[in-house]
Amino acid sequence: MDLQYLEENLSGRMVCPGSPQYQESCRLFNDLYPTYPKVVVYAAHEPDIWHCLHFARSHDLTTVVRAGGHSMAGYSVCEGLVIDVSGLNRVTVDTESSTAVVQAGTKIYELEAALEAEGFHVPGGGCPTVAVAGYMMGGGYGFTSRYFGLNCDNVLSARVMLADGTIVRASAEENGDLFWALRGGGGGNFGVLLDITYRVHGLGKLHGLRLEWSLQRTMQRREAAAALFLIQERFLPSHAYPQLGMQLLIQTDPDGGGKKLIACLTWVGQRSGLDEAVAPLLALPGTNVTLSLHAGYSEVNARLLSKMEAIPPGIRAYCCSHYVDQALDLPQMEALLDFYVASVPNAFAIVAMECYGGKINTVPSDATAFYHREALFDIFAFGFFTDEPEEQQSLAHNWIAQLNDFLQPIGNGHAYQNYPSRELPNHAWAYWGPNYPQLQRIKRKYDPDQFFRYGQAIDGRGATERTTSPLYTGP
Ligand SMILES: Cc1cc2nc3c(=O)[nH]c(=O)nc-3n(C[C@H](O)[C@H](O)[C@H](O)COP(=O)(O)OP(=O)(O)OC[C@H]3O[C@@H](n4cnc5c(N)ncnc54)[C@H](O)[C@@H]3O)c2cc1C
Repeated sequence: MDLQYLEENLSGRMVCPGSPQYQESCRLFNDLYPTYPKVVVYAAHEPDIWHCLHFARSHDLTTVVRAGGHSMAGYSVCEGLVIDVSGLNRVTVDTESSTAVVQAGTKIYELEAALEAEGFHVPGGGCPTVAVAGYMMGGGYGFTSRYFGLNCDNVLSARVMLADGTIVRASAEENGDLFWALRGGGGGNFGVLLDITYRVHGLGKLHGLRLEWSLQRTMQRREAAAALFLIQERFLPSHAYPQLGMQLLIQTDPDGGGKKLIACLTWVGQRSGLDEAVAPLLALPGTNVTLSLHAGYSEVNARLLSKMEAIPPGIRAYCCSHYVDQALDLPQMEALLDFYVASVPNAFAIVAMECYGGKINTVPSDATAFYHREALFDIFAFGFFTDEPEEQQSLAHNWIAQLNDFLQPIGNGHAYQNYPSRELPNHAWAYWGPNYPQLQRIKRKYDPDQFFRYGQAIDGRGATERTTSPLYTGP
């Protein structure tokens, strides 16, 4: 394999085994699945991607694309060629038309900073170093999604380089099927996403509020469960309070080891509206207000979720996700909190609930490839662990397995494709539900040779125009 030939054609950097940067170039956010590519190319511009695809096809080299490297299942590194697009991170805002063209490798913090500088916003996730490519193609949930929709709901068009090197634009007018698939179909399936054109929204400062409940004693857990139940009853019917963004964390305080329920709330609009909305919550026994601020989106997001920053770099994790579409009863809330306190293996492992409703749930489940429009919330867990002591890995693994057993009867059988797990049975149904056969047909059309493939890639083989593929594994 003539890697020198490839390198001569590149403007970007190429890293191979033996190079001082090699170990670093193999790493993802979650280092659970160490994988060693033959070559990693840091694309400097779009022609580099073209050369990589051409080279990979002529050498039959397995190829994946990496943007922010946050795939929890490790799907953005492979043993062949990794095309890293993190250097393609330009954001161009058009204030006249309220649109922004965002290159695929742009990180959420880069996107929000560029938009905020012009007084604009598009929903972004909690983790600032996630990149838009993977985030958007999996849906893209953030604090303002109940008000502005998922990140993918704000996409006007996208440009994609297909495996044969041709570039196509996908929008409502052009290649509408691909446009449908890119919004929720998940990264790494149809081609290399080059850039996204968003409809952006004028947004000034937001209100942020963090409420906490201790979980240490049984009585305190009952109080916290009552708060969870009230949040569900008051805010989660899909029409209620779309201005209110909510992420609920069940976690262990890195400072003192105390276990807590934390409600991170944001509000678009006047403070009086937030005060009215949360008054019944504040009146509950055991409620502590630990943060209140009025600031730009990035600051509110960062400060509300600041406790997650205590997660040390290089940490590894198992994860799981379950969508819930039927309201839980109070004993189920109590059981969830009791379960966490009794079973959590270390101070880093968290359970979180991303609350849906509002604009997210106004979009029909088949209008885009993102199926989960009936959900009340996504409940997910990151079973983080460090290398020491050695048994941490099996403890974290067992914890996620127990949590899956606990959550399965509560969930609707679906999982968020942006929190993928290699161990999820029937992943196609879990991520895409009845939208999967259509995704298979689109995969077959735009990537007929199945060039882009990984453990949970959409499988276009056998997909036909009329019938459900035999590979489709829905119930
Ligand atoms: C700590 C943490 C916090 C998170 N918080 C949130 C959150 O608040 N909200 C939310 O919705 N999600 C969240 N996520 C999930 C996140 O959205 C997904 O992991 C997302 O897929 C990451 O995208 P990436 O580009 O950073 O990752 P990558 O690992 O680079 O890519 C993810 C997938 O997309 C593919 N891909 C990457 N770039 C391209 C491209 N240019 N063209 C085609 N395919 C490509 C990869 O091959 C891979 O399959 C979080 C994840 C982590 C680890």
